[in-house]
Amino acid sequence: MSFESLPQLSLDGVESTTLPAFAVPVRRQTVSVNVGGVMVGSAHPVVVQSMTNTHTADAEATAIQAAQLARAGSELVRVTVNTAEAAAAIPELVQRLQDLGLSVPLVGDFHYNGHILLREFPQAARLLAKYRINPGNVGAGQRHDQNFASIIEVAKEYGKPVRIGVNWGSLDQQVLARLMDENALKPSPKSPTQVTIDAMVVSALESAAYAERLGLAHDQIIISVKVSSAPELWAVYRQLAGLCDYPLHLGLTEAGMGMKGMVATSVALAPLLTEGIGDTIRVSLTPEPGAPRKLEVEVAQQILQSLGIRQFLPQVTSCPGCGRTTSTFFQSLAQKIQDYIRDQMPEWKERYPGVEEMQVAVMGCVVNGPGESKHAHIGISLPGTGEDPRAPVYRDGELLTTLKGPHIAEEFQALLEQYVQERYGAGRS
Ligand code: SF4
Repeated sequence: MSFESLPQLSLDGVESTTLPAFAVPVRRQTVSVNVGGVMVGSAHPVVVQSMTNTHTADAEATAIQAAQLARAGSELVRVTVNTAEAAAAIPELVQRLQDLGLSVPLVGDFHYNGHILLREFPQAARLLAKYRINPGNVGAGQRHDQNFASIIEVAKEYGKPVRIGVNWGSLDQQVLARLMDENALKPSPKSPTQVTIDAMVVSALESAAYAERLGLAHDQIIISVKVSSAPELWAVYRQLAGLCDYPLHLGLTEAGMGMKGMVATSVALAPLLTEGIGDTIRVSLTPEPGAPRKLEVEVAQQILQSLGIRQFLPQVTSCPGCGRTTSTFFQSLAQKIQDYIRDQMPEWKERYPGVEEMQVAVMGCVVNGPGESKHAHIGISLPGTGEDPRAPVYRDGELLTTLKGPHIAEEFQALLEQYVQERYGAGRS
């Protein structure tokens, strides 16, 4: 028995699968909203944003964390504004960021007392680039409408956009009760989950309509309707997307900690983003003790990069390693190169336009190593078990050199730096 004795498989007549274009998906058309100079809407790249978890009243600590988030690539940074002290700290916070050479727009997150704080602290109202309002947390009954209107009046006065941010956990109970009552009278009532989803969409859109009736411009409104499970997020955002052209802020609320939070957010956001839904994203990770807050920015960037929507930094392809890898050297090299690239990016971005599209491969053995390395702009294939202790390096598909000895990591890093200079530098060929 040999292969030759088998009938040859032919794919003639079989339609080829169209590869998904590794390009920006067609975005759902939305208006452009100016958030302190950062444009949010379908005519602009999907914006990455984040939120601090410091006490905003501690302007120094908040400025340090906001600076970390901004330097990691957060294009907007939201801060809690929950007390008079927090509101009073906004001017110092902005000043501290300016002193660090950072002009990242700050978004104020208001609940319960935003109508009071924005009036009592006009400097905060002036310096914040956007106000987040949760229609479920502005009071009840007539108070609700008055408090909401007060915030909109301030937004109009200072020319600020607002995010109407509905949340599963703090949904406007009046809207929910109304929709539940209406649903109960229907011949085929919807499920309570579906009614809750409807109530979130209705709460967001009625709030937006009310804001516009109060005189806020259509292009001063961004909407979010956050839930904590992926299928519900898909349902609620698809529904919302079909009903308005406001830019949508996308995120899974209370995504969770560590790996669970990252996977859950990626799974939840990816289908919507590939459908063109979502104009700004935030990854709401619960930080692990001691973990840097900027991880949520890196995850958001990675989601957009993995979908081919935006490029933020060179992609390092590394194999998982297996029994063929001889040591942890391969893992540490992959990590080292990844960290090196991330550290260099602030400078590289300025000096080497286009460098974010570079592909680097760090592979563990000869099985897939040379192949992947040839596909990358620059790649290294480390020796596996029983292989010669040599590491071929490929550049633009051609064998460049073979490294050996104890300094493979440093030498590869130098070759990488040289490649970046030559390919993306001013005098590139
Ligand atoms: S490239 Fe080699 S080391 Fe890496 S996973 Fe494949 S076989 Fe294992």
